[in-house]
Amino acid sequence: MRKFHEQRVTPAPTMVLRGVQLFQGLLDRAQQEHLLEEIRGVVSHAPMRTLMTPQGRPMSVKMTSAGDFGWVSDAAGYRYEATQKNGATWPPIPLTMLNVWNSVSGSDRQPDSCLINLYWEAAKMGLHQDKDEADFRHPVVSISLGDDGLFRLGSTTKGGKTESIWLTSGDVVVMGGDARLIYHGIDKTRKGSSRLLNGGGRLNVTLRVVR
Ligand code: FE
Repeated sequence: MRKFHEQRVTPAPTMVLRGVQLFQGLLDRAQQEHLLEEIRGVVSHAPMRTLMTPQGRPMSVKMTSAGDFGWVSDAAGYRYEATQKNGATWPPIPLTMLNVWNSVSGSDRQPDSCLINLYWEAAKMGLHQDKDEADFRHPVVSISLGDDGLFRLGSTTKGGKTESIWLTSGDVVVMGGDARLIYHGIDKTRKGSSRLLNGGGRLNVTLRVVR
């Protein structure tokens, strides 16, 4: 199989679930390791943090960001910020991530925000919409690394039936078009299912156009 960055045309999704495009196995092991190195570079300038929900509860997923804007949450609510809590700007979005965006997003813009989530042990993410961005014509592109994560999809309105699929390391998900505002979450991760990260865990990288 040709690697994604060598392809001149957009790769076809391996599956479309409720309008969400899945590119399963898009990144091979070497590309995943390279991405992991890039994430380590980001984390060295912008350490992973435990954010508080607006209701004052600590999130189980640890987070950091790259790009012009980082996603943050605290008592003041969910929002994007141009600087970290210490006042420093966020590190730039690494090249491999931009290559993935350019390969699958179908967008004429470059992402200006990259959120990196670390799922450790029993970490999970409740059903939610990504709606803190200014223009929903641009998709959300999400890259899975490390342990499998059980990805749950609802619909674009609250409630109703949901369905789930396991995401594995190297899978890329695109939520765009009619599925841009679909409710989604991670129920759980499968500890030890991947050897990519030392000591296990799951990393999720999401790329967005925020402004
Ligand atoms: Fe999300």
